[in-house]
Amino acid sequence: MADKILMLILDGIGDRPVKELDGKTPLEKAKTPNLDKFAEKGVNGIMDTIAPGVIPGSDTGHLALLGYDPYDVYTGRGPFEAAGIGLEVKPGQVAFRCNFGTIEDGKLTDRRAGRIKEGTEELAEAVNNIDLGVDFHFQEAVEHRGVLILKGQGLGAKVTDIDPHETGVGYHPAEPIVDDKENKKTAEIINEFTKKTVEILSDHPINKKRESSGKPPANIILPRGAGAVPEMKPLSENKGIKGAAIAGIPLVKGVCRMAGMDIIDIEGATGGLDTDIEAIIKGIKSNIENYDFILANIKGFDILGHDGLPHEKIEFIEKLDENLEHLKDLEDIYIAITGDHSTPVTVKGHSGDPSPILIHGEEVRWDEVAKFDERSGTKGGLSRIYGKDVLNILLDLAKIGEKFGA
Ligand code: ZN
Ligand code: ZN
Repeated sequence: MADKILMLILDGIGDRPVKELDGKTPLEKAKTPNLDKFAEKGVNGIMDTIAPGVIPGSDTGHLALLGYDPYDVYTGRGPFEAAGIGLEVKPGQVAFRCNFGTIEDGKLTDRRAGRIKEGTEELAEAVNNIDLGVDFHFQEAVEHRGVLILKGQGLGAKVTDIDPHETGVGYHPAEPIVDDKENKKTAEIINEFTKKTVEILSDHPINKKRESSGKPPANIILPRGAGAVPEMKPLSENKGIKGAAIAGIPLVKGVCRMAGMDIIDIEGATGGLDTDIEAIIKGIKSNIENYDFILANIKGFDILGHDGLPHEKIEFIEKLDENLEHLKDLEDIYIAITGDHSTPVTVKGHSGDPSPILIHGEEVRWDEVAKFDERSGTKGGLSRIYGKDVLNILLDLAKIGEKFGA
């Protein structure tokens, strides 16, 4: 019988030697008895998610780990954010990430409209009544965030952001990055869209109320991150498996949803540092029965890498490790533990450094490595692999893989 597959993605786990950690990485410095046990009974290596030196985003990183070529399917973040908040997106459509912002006398005073928490549903309804002469949908998301989908024909996705990414200036009218009919059309449409959001939102009762209580009005919508919705064959077709994902952040949920996976919502799984790791592990265990494959993403490592906090990253790694105790009694399963990219505390952002990877399960050819970290992995039996190969390796181990040839 085929075994189950689990990919545990420790988002941004990989790091670089840190001076104040005596030249060790946070993962090398952390006490991780459970991860080390998995490493000892597993096969170890390091992994270039996309290619050596290529710096992955969380979206392109997860695409690669699910076996897709991000250079084929990725044009921008918008479509994955849209799918991540549950919108139905179709190939050919163009999606944008958006913010509600505040504009006064033609200048942006707040790119997040005071991190507005209430009334965005009503504001979105007003926005959706705008006549653009083309079919579109705007959907509000958490706080000041939202997503815009353009549904017309002949649209391009290579246009600049309307969001200027700073305050004290006017918004930037979108321009085509590639000068053709399709991209010109998209630029014209979203310029008109933005102009009309200012007209329609400035006098909206929700904003009048906000202003009278001293809050910045949410009187403009700022699109950015245009992307064409790609054609993506689902994993069921590509790999013949039924998959599900557990993730705190919409972007990763969106990638998995577009790969045809179910999304399992776990109460307390936030994508923040407060995420309930125990609940995530329990969620994996109670759902694995129904699927061939579960991908679970834990985000905290990435946040602390971006913030440049080595000691806090160590603490979060140790917190994860304690919870892995509960994974040990799972049987008939192959577990890969790795990252979608490195987020070194010294870089305060993503880097192209490979991530450590281990694969644990009954019949892996375990090696001499007995510690899960960036440098120990280099001595393991997996050597240095690509992200796109991880799922194939797991499918083969779990006896789900299909033979190539006769
Ligand atoms: Zn990531
Ligand atoms: Zn990140």
